[in-house]
Amino acid sequence: MEITGQTQLLGVIGYPIRHSLSPVMHNAALTELGENYVYLPFPIAPQDLPTAIAAFPLIGVKGFNVTIPHKQAIMPLLQGITPTAQRIGAVNTVYWTEQGWRGTNTDGLGFVTPLTALDRDWSRVKAVILGAGGSARAVVDGLAQLGCQQIQVVGRNVEKLTQFQQSWSATDFYHRLTVHPWESLPTLLPEAQLIVNTTPVGMTPQIDQSPLSESFIQQLPRTAIAYDLIYTPRPTHFLQLAEAQGLTIIDGLEMLVQQGAAALQLWINRPVPDTTMGQALQDYLQSNGSLAG
Ligand code: NAP
Repeated sequence: MEITGQTQLLGVIGYPIRHSLSPVMHNAALTELGENYVYLPFPIAPQDLPTAIAAFPLIGVKGFNVTIPHKQAIMPLLQGITPTAQRIGAVNTVYWTEQGWRGTNTDGLGFVTPLTALDRDWSRVKAVILGAGGSARAVVDGLAQLGCQQIQVVGRNVEKLTQFQQSWSATDFYHRLTVHPWESLPTLLPEAQLIVNTTPVGMTPQIDQSPLSESFIQQLPRTAIAYDLIYTPRPTHFLQLAEAQGLTIIDGLEMLVQQGAAALQLWINRPVPDTTMGQALQDYLQSNGSLAG
């Protein structure tokens, strides 16, 4: 990639930001496309967020991703928010419009993209989601858009689960969403066609842990899909156990790639090489795996 006087800026804001994988995949795609952009990490402390957002148009930033801790805090600083970001309650992508900055969220789309490649009648699928944190919100929204019959969210804190459920009360899929304590799993698992881990259990360095024990995984139908949002290690212990039972498995790398591909497409307004983005990430993780997060 040659940086010239016409090079335009894209990037990701967060604090800290040094472990972000986004620059690796976005710059790989931009280079392949021959687009004269560079994608940079911007470490922005919470108290500097309004100043940074106001300054971005002045220095020619054309769009940016948003990560922890700014995903909610950025919302009042933007001129518009898409319905998707409103429902999820977080912004991960910001793009420039005639009205100013507009925030959206591509995590739900990134999550469902590998699922849409599978031959399933989603209107008959009961999904079980482990965890009710930030990423579970994108998963719920993605599954609702996919048309899942029932979305069952399982968590260990009943108060948080109730709040989680209430936060969706204005959506047209509220009646398809239920929340359950961890103890309900023996009743839920035998009917689950999709099980999603959105907890950090099993992530590097705790690679021997699984959110579900082997005996719980054995209760899932053999036709079920096991999906883990974690992408280090690949595959997780949870996915290894599921694969041993004959289940279809999906790890978190493709979600990471597809949420990024959807953002890049918004900024440069043309199809983007998602395979190149995935390959760049795999290469990077193989040589720097323990550093990435
Ligand atoms: P988060 O907001 O902190 O939520 C984590 C959830 O997991 C919470 O509901 C938490 O419950 C639950 N949890 C944590 N430890 C648990 C345990 N030992 N047993 C049961 N539940 C537990 O985190 P997040 O942002 O959603 O991220 C979660 C995972 O997804 C991380 O591993 C992250 O790397 C991954 N992720 C991947 C992608 C991707 O693109 N592939 C995108 C986003 C996130 P409490 O509230 O009770 O603590």
